[in-house]
Amino acid sequence: MITVTPLPAFDDNYLWLLHRDGLAAVVDPGDGEVVLAALRERGLRLTAILITHHHADHIGGLAALRRVWDVPVYGPRAESGKIPGLTQLLDDGDRVALPELDVSFEVLAVPGHTLGHIAYHEAAQKLLFCGDTLFVGGCGRLFEGTPQQMYTSLQRLSALPGDTAVYCAHEYTLSNLDFAHSAEPGNSALGSEIERVRELRGRAQPSVPSTVQRELQFNPFLRCSQPPLTESASAHAGKPLHDPVEVFAALRRWKDGYKSKIR
Ligand code: ZN
Ligand code: FE
Repeated sequence: MITVTPLPAFDDNYLWLLHRDGLAAVVDPGDGEVVLAALRERGLRLTAILITHHHADHIGGLAALRRVWDVPVYGPRAESGKIPGLTQLLDDGDRVALPELDVSFEVLAVPGHTLGHIAYHEAAQKLLFCGDTLFVGGCGRLFEGTPQQMYTSLQRLSALPGDTAVYCAHEYTLSNLDFAHSAEPGNSALGSEIERVRELRGRAQPSVPSTVQRELQFNPFLRCSQPPLTESASAHAGKPLHDPVEVFAALRRWKDGYKSKIR
């Protein structure tokens, strides 16, 4: 079995280190020094780098890593012009096999946060590395894509097996859950999730990973067809919304301007 270790970086990023028997891969190395230090500490040899999208906090460490480790860099073909150093260009449905680590990922195109954003799904070990698409209790901002694109991407991720572990790239959980509670105050699953995450964060532990099944219970962006969310999104938009994509768009706009009371 592979071990997945979060490497905290910047204010709230997680770079994900995958390792097994002295060999490693890293997902979204925003900070090269953080990854190099982790490899040194654990005595690991890097064998591959996986990129979800072109933002600096996900690729900023590529050059520093590649100076030390001459390994393949996998990432979205659609963003190859914005990611210097990509060596393996990926499209939807491609597979990334890392036999040294005994994992094989399917590539899922999940446009919305950026247009070329991809996620990596490992079906046998039930792992999902989804970058800035699906967060615990939330989803990424729509910097490049449309609400329809992001909605479809989130539907795709939430259709994966319920016990799939969701490894997202940021610790945004408490502020996400604060918004989720404003959007769906009657959801009892939210209360216990907020308690669970407060306790973890109080001990400086990550709230990530979550699971698909848990996200379906409280993540408002996966619950756009639920009547309480249709109602609260309609109230916020000031007009009745019927289509789940309209509900999603209204929730995303509402969240963009939402000032969380907790962090
Ligand atoms: Zn991003
Ligand atoms: Fe990010």
